[in-house]
Amino acid sequence: MLPKTMTIARIAMCNQYQIKATIFDKRNRIVASAYNSYEKTHPFQKEMAVKVGLPMKEYCHAEILAIIRSKGKGYRIHVERYNKAGEPRNAKPCPICEEAIKNSHIKVISYTVG
Ligand SMILES: [Zn+2]
Repeated sequence: MLPKTMTIARIAMCNQYQIKATIFDKRNRIVASAYNSYEKTHPFQKEMAVKVGLPMKEYCHAEILAIIRSKGKGYRIHVERYNKAGEPRNAKPCPICEEAIKNSHIKVISYTVG
């Protein structure tokens, strides 16, 4: 378990930037992609948020939307975030998204680091 402050920082980060999640199949073909949203809610987002004890996080994260759009297909999820200069930044999935990925068909997680 991460210290609580670190977990909270990671979640705050997840909500402050534009994050893109793309799901690929085993042959690296794109199955689905999505950006995080500050307007959209979805029962799956809510369910995962409640599961990890963060029920207030109801707006859809990119990973959650991509998983919903992938309709049970795909093998790898890639999460990316860039700063204004176009440099990659850390896009490690937050605890809610980790839980969603664990509860999905996705087997491999990759993300930008910076
Ligand atoms: Zn997230």
